[in-house]
Amino acid sequence: MIKVVKFGGSSLANAEQFRKVADIIRAEEARRYIVPSAPGKRFSEDSKVTDLLYECYSSKKADFGRKLEEIKERYNEIIRDLGLDLSLEKEFQTMEACFIGKAGRDYAASRGEYLNGIVLANYLGYEFIDAAEVIFFDEQGNFDADKTNKILSERLSTVERAVIPGFYGSMPNDTIKTFSRGGSDITGSIVARAVSADLYENWTDVSGFLVADPRIIPNPAVITTITYRELRELSYMGATVLHEDAIFPVRKEGIPINIRNTNAPEDMGTMIVESTSKKSEYTITGIAGKRGFTSVSIEKDMMNSELGFGRKVLEVFEKNGISFEHVPSGIDTMGVIIQQSEFEKKEQEILAGLHRNVQPDSIEIISDMALIAVVGRGMKSNRGTAGRIFSALAHARVNVKMIDQGSSELNIIIGVNDEEFEAAIKAIYDIFVTAKL
Ligand code: ASP
Repeated sequence: MIKVVKFGGSSLANAEQFRKVADIIRAEEARRYIVPSAPGKRFSEDSKVTDLLYECYSSKKADFGRKLEEIKERYNEIIRDLGLDLSLEKEFQTMEACFIGKAGRDYAASRGEYLNGIVLANYLGYEFIDAAEVIFFDEQGNFDADKTNKILSERLSTVERAVIPGFYGSMPNDTIKTFSRGGSDITGSIVARAVSADLYENWTDVSGFLVADPRIIPNPAVITTITYRELRELSYMGATVLHEDAIFPVRKEGIPINIRNTNAPEDMGTMIVESTSKKSEYTITGIAGKRGFTSVSIEKDMMNSELGFGRKVLEVFEKNGISFEHVPSGIDTMGVIIQQSEFEKKEQEILAGLHRNVQPDSIEIISDMALIAVVGRGMKSNRGTAGRIFSALAHARVNVKMIDQGSSELNIIIGVNDEEFEAAIKAIYDIFVTAKL
């Protein structure tokens, strides 16, 4: 049994967190390959080391020294508090020289994980493997999955236990490149694929994915099992815990991801799987939503028999560089839901374009719309889910502006007025989770 274990920044923010991490790793023999993030916030107003590194790298001479000291002190404090016999002085000197020599923003940011990896490897007594030697990007800066998988799996086949820092790798010209922010999740997934892990554990500071946003629903239930497809729907609509790109490497190999909480290791967290026969506890798996959409609704008599109508409508949006989210349509109407901020920039061009392209009878614009996605693999086999959603919304006096059911029957998207966004989410949560209907 092999587990790849990734720890986020808050799990490695100080010595106390390092101790929890070591306890977790030592609790299971299978936890052999460890992927750390850079130290995160120790308290809410604190800075993440990654942010300090970006700032330091781009700071003027006068601030540079002070910022560098602040970064060094973050590591030295951890080393001291853990009582380690380790000095990063040489690494700090190299880093300083490379900053002055303008080795790049990505290089700068990557030092957060690099240095943390050295400290963690020392503390655990595990081998340290620099991600620059095993994670590769191509000339265009895209992640090179084949090269990485080959070299990384070969390298790890001879190493029993190792720490591989997250977030970065190297380019063909040996410069350092990072993934986008939160990218250590991706490294964990890549390592899990390379060693054909049985499980990819991703340890963070929450006990898994929540059924709804805790800023709207106090203490929401935790999702115990979610499929990759459900997760994708929820993440797209704004639920974040895991970097979206972290799914692909493990999904290819059918390796499940387990989201766990470093501060509550007894919680089982959320399992993310390809497919499951397990019913979700509730009819729905999760609710997520986003504000800031506009609906442009085009009406024209006999629209449904006009060949190419939809294409001509969408062409206008395409030509203005706007991608659409949903296209609900009726017999003589067609709506296009787009992001409001994008639409506002191009409003008049789009309206003129629509008049020119399809000569509509009328165009109605509704702004300040919020979209809510109700996601659940259970919806397919449960009758009346939509009915329950809409009666709950009616009871809560929420006016539904748009409905769209994905063709996979995995989600129902509902458009409501911005002011009714929270009330709508509460109503849906209550009916499915609180009342367990
Ligand atoms: N340290 C990086 C960031 O703050 C990467 C990560 O934590 O995953 O984005």
